[in-house]
Amino acid sequence: MQRFSCPFCGLRDEREFHFAGEAGKTRPDTTQDVSDKEWANYLFFCKNTKGPTREIWVHTTCQEYFIMERDSVTMEVLGTTAMRKDTA
Ligand SMILES: [Zn+2]
Repeated sequence: MQRFSCPFCGLRDEREFHFAGEAGKTRPDTTQDVSDKEWANYLFFCKNTKGPTREIWVHTTCQEYFIMERDSVTMEVLGTTAMRKDTA
C-alpha cells in the first residue's frame, strides 16, 4: 500500500486517490474542424511514459485535482503540486 501526498491534506492512503489523466495534454481546438482520429487520440490515448512522468490525480476526499510526478517503473512519487493558483 502506498501513501500519496495531497497538496491540501498531506499524506493519505492511495485508496483515496484516482488517476485523472496525463498532464500537459492539449485539447483540440473545437472551434476548428477536428477529425475523429484527433478527437479519439485526445480522449483515449496517452504517452504511457516509462520512467518519470507527470499526471493529473484527484484526491476524492477533498475533491482537489493536482499534478503528481512519479516514476512509472519504480512507482516512487517524486512530488505533488496543486493545480490551482490560490492555494495557501
Ligand atoms: Zn486532499
